[in-house]
Amino acid sequence: MIDLKNLEVWFVTGSQHLYGEETLNKVAEHSQIIAKSFNNDSRIPVTVIWKPVVKTPEEIYNVCMEANTAKNCIGIIAWMHTFSPAKMWIGGLKILQKPLCHLHTQFNSDIPWKDIDMDFMNLNQSAHGDREFGFIMTRMRIRRKVIVGFWQDTKVLEQLNVWTRAAAGWNDWQGAKFVRFGDNMRYVAVTDGDKVEAEMKFGYSVNTHGIGDLVKTINEVTDADINTLLQEYEYSYALTDILKKGNEKHQSLIEAARIELGLKYFLQDGNYKGFTDTFEDLHGMTQLPGIGAQRMMAAGYGFAAEGDWKTAALVRAMKVMGSGLKGGNSFMEDYTYHFNPENQMVLGSHMLEICPSIAHGKPTCEIHPLGIGGKADPVRLVFNVSGGDALNASVIDMGNRFRLLVNDVEAVAPVHDLPKLPVARVLWKPKPDMATGCAAWILAGGAHHTCFSQNLSAEHLEDFADMADIECVLISEQTNIRDFKNELRWNDLSVR
Ligand code: MN
Repeated sequence: MIDLKNLEVWFVTGSQHLYGEETLNKVAEHSQIIAKSFNNDSRIPVTVIWKPVVKTPEEIYNVCMEANTAKNCIGIIAWMHTFSPAKMWIGGLKILQKPLCHLHTQFNSDIPWKDIDMDFMNLNQSAHGDREFGFIMTRMRIRRKVIVGFWQDTKVLEQLNVWTRAAAGWNDWQGAKFVRFGDNMRYVAVTDGDKVEAEMKFGYSVNTHGIGDLVKTINEVTDADINTLLQEYEYSYALTDILKKGNEKHQSLIEAARIELGLKYFLQDGNYKGFTDTFEDLHGMTQLPGIGAQRMMAAGYGFAAEGDWKTAALVRAMKVMGSGLKGGNSFMEDYTYHFNPENQMVLGSHMLEICPSIAHGKPTCEIHPLGIGGKADPVRLVFNVSGGDALNASVIDMGNRFRLLVNDVEAVAPVHDLPKLPVARVLWKPKPDMATGCAAWILAGGAHHTCFSQNLSAEHLEDFADMADIECVLISEQTNIRDFKNELRWNDLSVR
């Protein structure tokens, strides 16, 4: 996974020449202290770079231009310690292509009641300087995050943490390549969509390779590489007996390892950040990739089944956003309901491909028949997922726009063994409750494919949607169906 510390956000403070040198030196000094403190804070996962105070339209334009072309710069934090007349910002904001976070803070926490004088007031002006800046961004219809509070407050640092992670995910999409092996699952609607529009809007490209291209790479994998991987399987998972060396199905484990390595080399050679496959197009393959797809996801690649490139890309972005956090992110599918009125919940799973980054404990490595695809039994990792706060997210193509749909859920630790369901699985309760959560999801057109996250919040995805300039719809503890339907109607009217 990528190291977020290699990425930079630039701390840009606005002012003007009216104040004179002494005040401007103070502005520079204060903004350096704040930027340095952010950079040293473990809650902010990226590098924070202080930029000299901007005081003219030219300086503002130049720093925005520089940010656009700086490879490691993933966004700007802007703060108006003093008043920076905002017409000076129009030229720069018009060309700025990186996300912007407006930090509405003040260098001092408290008003020094006894000592406060006009000099103090002159310097500590963000209460009105930041309003001027807010106006021009709203006037220009620029979506951004606004964080309010003293810069040392935990809440402020937590929001900055969230925003920088969202910016890292957004940055990762720019120029990213995703490969589809085969096309969409025949006749399926929600996994399809406009890849040209997606590339314009999201910055990533999606292209197809015939399965034969992957099969060729798989067939070139060496026995030595397979043996090394088999050792890793043995070390990392509890292998079921029949898969062990000398036993009946060991050859299937060898084939699974060959498929995984073929996938890995194909993705590495093509510089891809994720992939899709489909059980309807496996010509020349012995098994549907099970453990291989699972382990590629665990290594940080985006994945979704049945040609679902939108979910594959979302899984990748969410893995980047969650980098270094406890818990994981996985491709997921709502599968079966427990409608018992006492304890309603959803069983989430997929035929095979759930990422072990969300596993509770050591996964078992098993082999069982698969009802579809007409290939040999696929090897897969089987595990449960522990309880706790989580969410499901889905990107759908509405025809005239993309919609990001998020449902807060509470994952539930399993209380029953599922001896006849040999796949990775998760139980969760949708918020605000089963009936409302599911009804809202269906009204919003959310897919049966999602990215399930243990370490991201709705706020990460709301910030991400602002950066992508797409619709974001949240189903949370506060959701009620009447308001939710109105929100969908109003959103429909806002994009025509
Ligand atoms: Mn599916």
